[in-house]
Amino acid sequence: MSPLHVTNVHKTYRQGGRDVRALRGVSVDVNRGQFLAIMGASGSGKSTLLHLMGGLTKPDSGEVSVDGEALAPMSDGKLTRFRRDHIGLVFQSFNLIPTLSARENVLLPLRLAGRPIGDRVDEIIRTLGLFDRRHHKPDALSGGEQQRVAIGRALINDPAVILADEPTGNLDSVNSKAVCELLRDLCVMHGKTIVMVTHEPSVAAYASDVAVIKDGLLVDRFPTEVFSGHGELAARYQEAVR
Ligand code: ADP
Ligand code: MG
Repeated sequence: MSPLHVTNVHKTYRQGGRDVRALRGVSVDVNRGQFLAIMGASGSGKSTLLHLMGGLTKPDSGEVSVDGEALAPMSDGKLTRFRRDHIGLVFQSFNLIPTLSARENVLLPLRLAGRPIGDRVDEIIRTLGLFDRRHHKPDALSGGEQQRVAIGRALINDPAVILADEPTGNLDSVNSKAVCELLRDLCVMHGKTIVMVTHEPSVAAYASDVAVIKDGLLVDRFPTEVFSGHGELAARYQEAVR
């Protein structure tokens, strides 16, 4: 059973008396250890799709299952626990607690759940390349370091699935590269299943697969290995959204 199944989801928002059809029947499967980039123009439904995968919003119809379990029948309490244990969420704005050190931000989910702080946290901080920076507060870290802390916080409960919404959206190219390499390593070396929203071909090129969304519909899906550079990927994307 692959860890992420989205089957024929529809989602309409009601806004100022009119309906916005954000998703109009989208199906996506992501296999274990796959790194899928979701691409599409602003407003095409990328975040809505990612939020459905994370159980942050419910579809009007269609099904979502994560790590072998359907989300729809879960109570709010069960869904919260399920999300905590199976899904790591990363956003464009890092959402770190400014008064806590990098290390304390990473282990915050353990503290909130009343779980023991094992050796895992320092292992994760090393994987993130932040060991020397672990006692710094967010405002003493670069944007890329802050996003790596946020990724660490998403990893602390050892989720099978990581969902990242434009994780490099606030980063310069050097920091963006470091975050992309980290996500790719988590996929390749640690077997995480990753879904990342981005509109940049140079970021999507780090993924193993790309899904293209246009006006709430999936219009293309392809592996990235067939391209020799992100210029070719960009051309395929432009063709798909024309
Ligand atoms: P993307 O992430 O690709 O920019 P979104 O999934 O955020 O797209 O949005 C898809 C469409 O749904 C857009 O037209 C957006 O304005 C609308 N939308 C998203 N969230 C809401 C909401 N909470 N209420 C009303 N409309 C929304
Ligand atoms: Mg978005």
